[in-house]
Amino acid sequence: MNPDQLTAWLTRFADLVHAQRDALTALDSAIGDADHGSNMDRGMSAVVAALAEAPPDDAAALLKKTGTTLVSKVGGASGPLYGTLFLRMAGSIGDGFGPALRAGYEGVLARGKAEPGDKTMVDALGPACDVLDGGGSLADAAQAAADGRDATVPLVARKGRASYLGERSAGHQDPGATSTALLLQAAAETLGL
Ligand code: ADP
Ligand code: MG
Ligand code: MG
Repeated sequence: MNPDQLTAWLTRFADLVHAQRDALTALDSAIGDADHGSNMDRGMSAVVAALAEAPPDDAAALLKKTGTTLVSKVGGASGPLYGTLFLRMAGSIGDGFGPALRAGYEGVLARGKAEPGDKTMVDALGPACDVLDGGGSLADAAQAAADGRDATVPLVARKGRASYLGERSAGHQDPGATSTALLLQAAAETLGL
C-alpha cells in the first residue's frame, strides 16, 4: 500500500462521516450521549488536515499519524478505539491491507474488551476481517460490515454507554458499527483491491 492510496481512503472516510454526521449523532442520541457524529467528524477532519500539512512518506507513518491524531482529538470511547485500530494497522501494513485490518481489529478487542455480539463497532469490523482473511474482495468486506451493522439492531449492548440501558438498548442500531461500515465502504471505493 502506498501513502497516496491510504490518504484517498481516509479522505473518503472523512467525507462519508461528515455527510453522515447528524445520522451518527441521532443513533447515539437513542442509546448513548449524542456525540458519535461530532466526535468522528472532528477527529477525521483533524486527520485530513494533519496529513495535508505534513504528508507522511510511508504507509506506516501515515497510519500512525492518523491514530495519534484521533486519540488526541476525540474523547470518549471512539477516539481511543479508532486510534488503536490505526496504530495497530501501522505495525502490519507491510503485510497488506487485510492483515493490517486484522491486527487493528485485534487491537480494538484488546483495548475495549468487547466480544462479537456486544453491539459495538466490533460487530462490523470482525466480519469484514473474516472476509478479507478468506480472500474476499473489499466490496465483499464492506457488505459484511454493513450486514454486521444491521445485525446490531436487535442486540442488547454489553459494552460502552449503551450497556447502561440494558434491555432498552435493543431495537437500535449501534453508532460505532455504523461508522465502521462507512470505513469499509470508503476502502471498497478507493483501494480497488
Ligand atoms: P462515547 O460512548 O464515549 O460517547 P462515541 O459515542 O464516540 O463514544 O462512540 C460510541 C461507540 O463506541 C459505540 O456505538 C460502540 O460501537 C463503540 N464502543 C463503545 N465501547 C466499546 C468497547 N468497549 N469496545 C468496542 N467498541 C466500543
Ligand atoms: Mg457517544
Ligand atoms: Mg461521549
